[in-house]
Amino acid sequence: MISIQNLHKSYVTGNNSLHVLKGLNLEIEEGEFVSIMGSSGSGKSTLLNILGVLDDYDQGNYYLNGKKIWGLNETQAAITRNAMIGFIFQSFNLISFKNAMENVALPLYYQKVNRKKRNLIALEYLDRLGIRDWAHHLPSELSGGQKQRVAIARALISHPKIILADEPTGALDSQTSLEVMEILKEVNDQGITVIIVTHEHDIAALTKKIIRLRDGIIGEVITNGDLQKYRDKVKHE
Ligand code: ADP
Ligand code: MG
Repeated sequence: MISIQNLHKSYVTGNNSLHVLKGLNLEIEEGEFVSIMGSSGSGKSTLLNILGVLDDYDQGNYYLNGKKIWGLNETQAAITRNAMIGFIFQSFNLISFKNAMENVALPLYYQKVNRKKRNLIALEYLDRLGIRDWAHHLPSELSGGQKQRVAIARALISHPKIILADEPTGALDSQTSLEVMEILKEVNDQGITVIIVTHEHDIAALTKKIIRLRDGIIGEVITNGDLQKYRDKVKHE
């Protein structure tokens, strides 16, 4: 599903260049539930933005579902994203003057689905996420957990093959974080590939594979027996 070889990415500002990704290799299969960990500034968001076709890379290969992602213009990138990817962010990224239903329906607006139909579908998704009663509330009237459910519903409404989540529990208390992770697990159980960036060990421990970014490459991949040891260790902290 995701195949990356020798990926390089630098940010250039003025005369300075910051080499963030330095020849990274990564393979993620369809249906995986993966977390990407690494210290602040290690390039987690940079990598996720490249995976999500929100940003370019400088060198290397990125294949998404067998298609080489390189040199796309904004329209082509948007088509790829709309067909494949749902995004979830730490800060929810909801539109403040639209209610929960309208926020969830937004991707269908861009697909030119008429208002009545897209709102009905949005209500179904809100129902699935247990917040149908909040459909007509603005984001400012919702708790953090409710806002993230709205964001997840919005991500799911266009039937993505991959969910990319950048610190999805970063703004939530620990109980709500667990609820959001339970939802993401259910999403993954339906066959959708889920990739989460986090710096919280207990969140990473709930995924099925942990990838550590270090010095611009993948430093470590924790899975299977090692993952069980990791979970046991997290539990006793
Ligand atoms: P993480 O998500 O792991 O905290 P990021 O991928 O956001 O790290 O950032 C990696 C490094 O690149 C950081 O040093 C950050 O300051 C820098 N960086 C990120 N985005 C930009 C940008 N648009 N322009 C310049 N530097 C950036
Ligand atoms: Mg980040």
